[in-house]
Amino acid sequence: MEKNHTSFAMKVNSSDKQESVCVFGTGDFGRSLGLKMFQCGYSVVFGSRNPELSSLHHKEIEVLSHAEAAQRSDIIIIAIHRDHYKFLGKLTEELQGKILVDISNNLKINQYPESNAEYLAELVPGAKVVKAFNTISAWALQSGHLDGSRQVFVCGDDKESKQRVMNISRTLGLTPLDHGCLVTAREIENYPLQLFPMWKFPLYLSGALFIFYFIYYALRSVIHPYVTQNKDTTFTLAFSILNHAFAGMAVTLLALVYLPGLIAAILQLYQGTKYRRFPNWLDHWMLCRKQLGLAALAFAFLHVLYSLGLPNRYSAKWKLANRVIKQVKSNKTDPFLASDVWRYDGGLTLGILGFFLFVLLGITSLPSVSNMVNWREFRFIQSKLGYLTLILCTVHTLVFGANKFLKPPPLVWYLPPTYVISLIAPSVVLLLKFILIMPCFNRPLTRIRQGWERNSLSKKIQLGNSNTEV
Ligand code: NAP
Repeated sequence: MEKNHTSFAMKVNSSDKQESVCVFGTGDFGRSLGLKMFQCGYSVVFGSRNPELSSLHHKEIEVLSHAEAAQRSDIIIIAIHRDHYKFLGKLTEELQGKILVDISNNLKINQYPESNAEYLAELVPGAKVVKAFNTISAWALQSGHLDGSRQVFVCGDDKESKQRVMNISRTLGLTPLDHGCLVTAREIENYPLQLFPMWKFPLYLSGALFIFYFIYYALRSVIHPYVTQNKDTTFTLAFSILNHAFAGMAVTLLALVYLPGLIAAILQLYQGTKYRRFPNWLDHWMLCRKQLGLAALAFAFLHVLYSLGLPNRYSAKWKLANRVIKQVKSNKTDPFLASDVWRYDGGLTLGILGFFLFVLLGITSLPSVSNMVNWREFRFIQSKLGYLTLILCTVHTLVFGANKFLKPPPLVWYLPPTYVISLIAPSVVLLLKFILIMPCFNRPLTRIRQGWERNSLSKKIQLGNSNTEV
């Protein structure tokens, strides 16, 4: 059965290779796609406004007028900008029953009321329009650098036409993905115009958090000493405050990766079903978790680099030299406090282990790595190891901040120490997680996630009661 299937696919491909394909437009994309198809064994003919002037420097590829070229093939790729489609309306006779492949893109998202492919279908009603190839660039086709962009979204109302275009993409070494009917063309046309859509929320959030942490630290450590004691500590803005802000952001963002999952679990428990849609903001937040995690990892990395640079700061060297001179002058050394060693070295170890797991989480989120593990392994790493990372990073913050909590004054202008602020999100997440893994919540949640619904049960009971009453 498998063998037959393969030989059928080979037949389809080999017959496609004999197929002739027509390309309208000898511009960048038309030329690149036409040449690629020619290299892959297709017989290619171009349709151009000026066939005599268009030179493709290839003897075996003809350039004809649009009307002549259209007669050579039943698949015509329209490598022309939408604004110039009008002339196709005059070729309706030649294009009758042909497969027109719309590869066009726009300059702006939703630039026109209808998609370019639908507009083409309106202009040439007798043709079968298929949208494809618009997510591939002319440069990638020419250079062969298709690794990151092999996916070709294909849509169209005629199944057979769509299949033939998908076969061509496969022969070119691309990966076609059936996107459905022609109405979905607008979505496909918007794909290449989107600029990191999943990164918007994490980037805005990171920006807002950075501003918040920076101002908060500056208020406590720079502005307050200046106002109350006329003490200038502005030099801390250059290094120490940045380092603290990055640390706070890393642990907060990591907590925010796990918070939406917990909110979703609470909602499911409350609604007693998993079949009700989450609010849009929660949906979007859940979809951005990977990006939030990567942003958290980036700030953790910055925190590590800044922490490695701590002893090289001018102020640190000055403090050390001053302390040594003081000790020499007084002929007295500072006592060795084992409790300080425990706190400092323990905190460092927790931080290093937390960062190690953080990097591991980041690596496993890469598609090339996550494709190698099964769903259970992926969930184990992202959930169990993720929470372990959050615990280690939270305790690391707690240990380093311990003496700051205890040392007076804990409140400056009614503001709690910055360590306390960075611990809010992780503590909330860990507390919620702890509550949700308790059997009284975990059991119903597991049942709900397996499809059980509280309301259907109560409805059944009500139905049962009414039946018995009848
Ligand atoms: P281009 O280099 O400007 O080529 C467009 C071609 O359209 C011209 O070479 C010309 O071919 C033809 N043309 C121009 N004005 C015309 C008119 N008034 N009537 C009829 N034909 C006309 O543009 P391109 O970069 O190849 O892009 C072509 C299409 O591919 C666009 O819709 C674009 O969105 C899409 N696309 C491009 C890329 C890319 O990387 N470049 C990627 C994906 C999709 P003749 O002189 O031979 O008639």
